[in-house]
Amino acid sequence: METKYWLVDKDVDSLATYPQIKEAAALLRENQVVAFPTETVYGLGANATSEEASSKIFAAKGRPADNPLIVHIADREQLDDLTASIPEQAERLMEAFWPGPLTIIFMKKDQALARQVTAGLETVAVRMPDHPVALAVISEAGLPIAAPSANRSGKPSPTSAKHVQADLDGLIAGIVDGGETGVGLESTVIDCTGKIPVILRPGGVTKEELEQVVGEVGLDPALKDELEKPKSPGMKYQHYAPDAPMYLVEGSREWIQELIHQQRKLGKKVGLLTTEEQMSFYQADVILPCGSESKLETVARSLYEVLRAFNESDVDMILSETFPYEGVGSAIMNRLEKAAGHRWLRE
Ligand code: AMP
Ligand code: MG
Repeated sequence: METKYWLVDKDVDSLATYPQIKEAAALLRENQVVAFPTETVYGLGANATSEEASSKIFAAKGRPADNPLIVHIADREQLDDLTASIPEQAERLMEAFWPGPLTIIFMKKDQALARQVTAGLETVAVRMPDHPVALAVISEAGLPIAAPSANRSGKPSPTSAKHVQADLDGLIAGIVDGGETGVGLESTVIDCTGKIPVILRPGGVTKEELEQVVGEVGLDPALKDELEKPKSPGMKYQHYAPDAPMYLVEGSREWIQELIHQQRKLGKKVGLLTTEEQMSFYQADVILPCGSESKLETVARSLYEVLRAFNESDVDMILSETFPYEGVGSAIMNRLEKAAGHRWLRE
């Protein structure tokens, strides 16, 4: 299949009237899959009401069928067609964080969506992205759009159109290039179907920010203990992994440097994921800075780009620095733990 490519300037007014957006939206209405930027990562969109359209997402990504998709909407009214009820806490969260990087789980309305989109669950995950291109494409299509990240399953999520092309060129109908994404990590997923809201996946909106709006917020036990069965089906899969095996390292600079030396003496090419502040203290075969340790948002924004960049080098192993489990650090560590398959090396 030939993959169409449209370049758009996300900052122009009345984006929805642009031919690129109209063409992308028309393909979505024809049940084709199209990638577009959101403020978190690039999404791979399809008509969420169509079995035919949504099955093309699973095929292009190689995504396991039991991993449900997030449904993206462009205006609040679309939500009523998808959900059986809207709890008070969800109303408050939407008011505070939509459009934005927060996905909310609701009880679904029967027959509203293709079965594959919710993987047969009684619930549906919905989000309103805070990106002019995503909003223009969705509202012009006039449909709820199922959209997981636009990467092959298991790979780091795409934060630029170039990443989408690398993974999916020839497999999807089109790519809308609206430049680099902002947050750089996927949305926070929060389940609002129980008594207190529960975070199923940490992301762009932090637990601290959520608690300011709705009081107590729980954490899915699977986020703390990898042996627990996660409530979000997708959380059990290996994700975000670079090609070379990755290890999270925790220790003094001297200890980390000694570890690198030992591995190099064994003939291994060693990559190090570190920060702008720390990089000059180390020697390794490939050293990639991932943002600034004093501004974790910059680490979030660069993380997937850096994981992909290691694939362009020929390192045999990647050692990664770790970050505090606070604020956006929780989401960064969640992604790093998965990328490393929970392998740690500690002093
Ligand atoms: P992705 O689309 O790749 O960003 O992943 C979406 C995440 O949301 C996955 O971890 C899914 O398992 C999760 N998700 C989607 N729908 C539901 C749902 N109804 N209940 C719980 N988790 C969901
Ligand atoms: Mg994904």
